Amino acid sequence: MACRDAHRGAELLDFAQFRDSSTQALVYGYGGRSLPELRAREFGRLAGTVYLDHAGATLFPQSQLASFTQDLTENVYGNPHSQNISSKLTHDTVEQVRYRILAHFHASPEDYSVIFTAGSTAALKLVAEAFPWVSPGRESSGSLFCYLTDSHTSVVGMRTVAKAMNVTSIPVRPEDMWSAEKRGAAARDPNCQLPHLFCYPAQSNFSGTRYPLSWIGEVKSGRMCPVSTPGQWFMLLDAASYVSTSSLDLSVHQADFIPISFYKIFGFPTGLGALLVHNRVAPLLRKSYFGGGTAAAYLAGDDFYIPRQSVAERFEDGTISFLDVIALKHGFDALERLTGGMENVMQHTFTLAQYTYTALSSLRYPNGAPVVRIYSDSDFSSPEVQGPIINFNVLDDNGSVIGYSQVDKMASLYNIQVRTGCFCNTGACQRHLGISDEMVKKHLQAGHVCGDDVDLIDGQPTGSVRISFGYMSTLEDAQAFLRFIIATRLRLSSGQAIPQDTLREAGTPLAESEAQNAVTATMNGCRPSPQEDTCTDSRVWNDLLTAVDAVGLHSPVLEATRTQQTSSEKAAGALDGGLGPHIITNLYLYPIKSCAAFEVTRWPIGNQGLLYDRSWMVVNHNGICLSQKQEPRLCLIQPFIDLQRRIMVIKAKGMEPIEVPLENGEQAPICQSKVCADRVNTYDCGEKISSWLSKFLGRPCHLIKQSSNFQRNAKKHSKVMRTERKKYSP
Ligand SMILES: *Cc1c(COP(=O)(O)O)cnc(C)c1O
Repeated sequence: MACRDAHRGAELLDFAQFRDSSTQALVYGYGGRSLPELRAREFGRLAGTVYLDHAGATLFPQSQLASFTQDLTENVYGNPHSQNISSKLTHDTVEQVRYRILAHFHASPEDYSVIFTAGSTAALKLVAEAFPWVSPGRESSGSLFCYLTDSHTSVVGMRTVAKAMNVTSIPVRPEDMWSAEKRGAAARDPNCQLPHLFCYPAQSNFSGTRYPLSWIGEVKSGRMCPVSTPGQWFMLLDAASYVSTSSLDLSVHQADFIPISFYKIFGFPTGLGALLVHNRVAPLLRKSYFGGGTAAAYLAGDDFYIPRQSVAERFEDGTISFLDVIALKHGFDALERLTGGMENVMQHTFTLAQYTYTALSSLRYPNGAPVVRIYSDSDFSSPEVQGPIINFNVLDDNGSVIGYSQVDKMASLYNIQVRTGCFCNTGACQRHLGISDEMVKKHLQAGHVCGDDVDLIDGQPTGSVRISFGYMSTLEDAQAFLRFIIATRLRLSSGQAIPQDTLREAGTPLAESEAQNAVTATMNGCRPSPQEDTCTDSRVWNDLLTAVDAVGLHSPVLEATRTQQTSSEKAAGALDGGLGPHIITNLYLYPIKSCAAFEVTRWPIGNQGLLYDRSWMVVNHNGICLSQKQEPRLCLIQPFIDLQRRIMVIKAKGMEPIEVPLENGEQAPICQSKVCADRVNTYDCGEKISSWLSKFLGRPCHLIKQSSNFQRNAKKHSKVMRTERKKYSP
């Protein structure tokens, strides 16, 4: 059987066997702590979701929030700049948290200071603005700003600040650093104090490559040189990605500046980061702006400003996010309690990454072609050189890349969350994908911008797919992901991969057709492989089966309800005679956005197109419109419009059909919603349908309908916009 052939090489790697055969002592889990129990207790909200974007943002444990909110409800925290008792409590607690952060990085308060910022990016911007750059002039050749090309956008952006100072920026390729490492000794003039800055990531957020921390000492001591030039090198270690799954020992690797974002370590709070600054450079930093809390003294009417002594007080303009700072304490506590420390997190996440990498890189099509191309600088040999990030593109059996958007959509259908694109790291993206500078510019001209879904241009990928593990990731997460790749690429009824052409046929239908094939393969009587056995209880798998069932052309739901449509079609009125050469025979309405289609052969036109087409939508508890991307089960909800009875009947498997009036009789309150970037007026269709939908989708949600005065308002709005523009244009 052809199907059997497709299985070759597609078996899931047996984890126990993998671990036994490894040359290293691989650690999975956190000793006596049960990982499944930890997941159930702290991350219940993940139920059924395979979250693999921890490098984007990791997830906070429930107990962190619980102890944080308890802290806030039991204590009075005032503004830390006041002098009263609640203010003193805030000040002292914040200072305590600073020590806690330093302790986490094995740094002493004698050596390092913590400046709270809005995140890593704000910390990088602060360094760019405060660094003691020397502009080139008669006596000096000027400072240099050097950065590894595998740096995050937020590092590269520092060069605009440098440029304003006439400071030269020099991008340094990883290859050049690696060879500089081998070359060794560079000339250093101890008398030359000209300050240069070199920035590199401890871990690439693109590939998970870990660059040697030893570079800090090597460059600072002059044994290694990013660029051969006299002067003194200051080192910025971008640790934002690295520290989410590793410990960082600043007592050994004494970088001058270390930016971090806390949501990457424990998921909460967001919008809070820090710049760790070595105290030896703190006095050199310049301040270009002064805000509340930073002044020892200043005059309102004269150019007189004396900054405060401590570097933190000098650079934290305004009131810091003090309640969020207090949340950090609970974050560190929870992380320690759940894992026993960052060393364990590093081992656990590395084991998952090495297992997944080994399995993924061994997947082959029946013709021997690899299923994925992995972009990495290491072979995942140790956590010293590789973090728990795997970056890749999926290939077809001819070796052509399947666009990342397609993979993303397909993964969503399996409830797997990955990250796609170029990950705010164009340098790494270009290097790994072989995209030249000219091509980047050409892609822009072709309409591709960072973060969109233009994934292939002339068959060449513009980005890739990234999966990343966090401290609470499990083997089941890794295996669900691998099963997804196997099911979509290798389990086809024909035993052949879907040709590229079919795959490019945009959007959901394609994903559905592929999913259908995947299921056909398993139902065609293939021997059940071990992975099938293990996945029968997984909601991911079940979701797919139901989703496929629903979108099948001969869906029983659709067949059973044809009679209702006929009566509606009659009500739509006859339009006989005088038909032109082009005749529309079938019409599909989508009365509820993202839900199943309602098929008719005749239908009235309303003032916005087909009457009642996309008039309703399902929104979550915050009023956010749900799409199939977040809620694949929407496609199982089948609306029917009965124009005669002026109702919409909604059906779904396992639910009693429910009726919703086509227009709001009781004048429900109108509110504003955002749909596809447009603001529209809507009203809520009531509690009854809300609880019906909530029951079916297993989460609180509502049905809302566009208010019929929408059109008029939209017109009025755009008219106002036009006159405004006229008024202000020169
Ligand atoms: C995330 C990240 C940043 C930027 O962090 P923000 O929290 O977005 O400011 C910078 N560098 C690296 C390596 C990162 O992973």
